[in-house]
Amino acid sequence: MESASGGTGASDPNSGEPIPSTAAAAPTGASSASQGQAEGSFQAPPSRYESQKRRDWNTFLQYLKNHKPPLTLARCSGAHVIEFLKYLDQFGKTKVHITGCPYFGHPNPPAPCACPLKQAWGSLDALIGRLRAAYEENGGRPESNPFGARAVRIYLREVREGQAKARGIPYEKKNGNGLLQLLRQLFRLMFRYHTVAATSTTPAAATTTTAV
Ligand SMILES: [Zn+2]
Repeated sequence: MESASGGTGASDPNSGEPIPSTAAAAPTGASSASQGQAEGSFQAPPSRYESQKRRDWNTFLQYLKNHKPPLTLARCSGAHVIEFLKYLDQFGKTKVHITGCPYFGHPNPPAPCACPLKQAWGSLDALIGRLRAAYEENGGRPESNPFGARAVRIYLREVREGQAKARGIPYEKKNGNGLLQLLRQLFRLMFRYHTVAATSTTPAAATTTTAV
């Protein structure tokens, strides 16, 4: 029941997509710093998931530090986590059409529009999964884990449904037809790879890119 919400690590195609290390919040390479402090006990470099999780955690701690009014981890609630997710939207690269846009519901708009770029639901879902794990690994108690709060689950569901409508891309329920779901995930993954490849070759065009 509980586990149904979070980003389920390895099998989730979205888990590999890094949340941009939020330039403002994490200025220096957080991963290299944490690798540097190894005291001989942890020689193996952390996996991609582990280092992403560490980066996300540092980003969140930095966010708390800069929060006005100041906020401590102990006083952090689901509402604050939602606030954090909304804050991340400004670094998003996913075009989410507003209801008045002629391309609302079009997965492949023929022309650019002025709709905002946001964090894709899949990125947020995977991020919350990583932060939820990090919270407990850093001594937080499961009962008070703000990343597991009901409000956060509801918010993520609303984002998913809203983006599915706005982008014309349905997100499948976890308990859907297994094979069909797998094929759709595969397709989505290929599609994403395609967009990443396309945008990375033309960094200068980033502002005009229609992030599908
Ligand atoms: Zn639009």
